[in-house]
Amino acid sequence: MAEQQWFYRSAEEWDAICERLKLTPCPHCQVVGMLIRHGSLYGYDDRSQRQTLRARRLFCSNRHARRGCGRTISVWLADKIRRLSLTTGTLWQFLGRAVAGSLRAAIRAADGFLSDRTWLRIWKRFHQAQSKIRTALSPCCAPPAVPAPSSPRPAAHVLAHLTAAFPDADCPIAAFQQTMRTFFL
Ligand SMILES: [Zn+2]
Repeated sequence: MAEQQWFYRSAEEWDAICERLKLTPCPHCQVVGMLIRHGSLYGYDDRSQRQTLRARRLFCSNRHARRGCGRTISVWLADKIRRLSLTTGTLWQFLGRAVAGSLRAAIRAADGFLSDRTWLRIWKRFHQAQSKIRTALSPCCAPPAVPAPSSPRPAAHVLAHLTAAFPDADCPIAAFQQTMRTFFL
């Protein structure tokens, strides 16, 4: 499995991560106590006209004779989608509409926020990610049974599996990223 990604959801969680840095091994070199704060990553998404915080950065310090490896680590806000100006909530809504109705209707409902081409690319990325998502979910929750007469498309099944795995989450995609420590797309 790919390298684990780090996520957090709130300022409190970020503070807690910072308080533990002296005891935290670097995910690259495993040396403990060399991680220091290293700025932030900002970008656009559907939540605001302005750039918003997307990730915090850590640096495994090799300066001043410290024993770190010199690499950086991004700690992502769980409700951001890497390489897309999109929050997980908007993505969840889009995928739900695409599965319940049609891709065309979902793109129309998204109201021109992104170009049609971008939405098609996002749909394709979701398709490519489906087996990875299902594999990640399997240990934590069996896929929900499908009622016999209807045989939903694989995409619908993945969304149902996500809902079953994180029934109390505001956004199952954000919960997936944080729990599985991997990017949804
Ligand atoms: Zn390191």
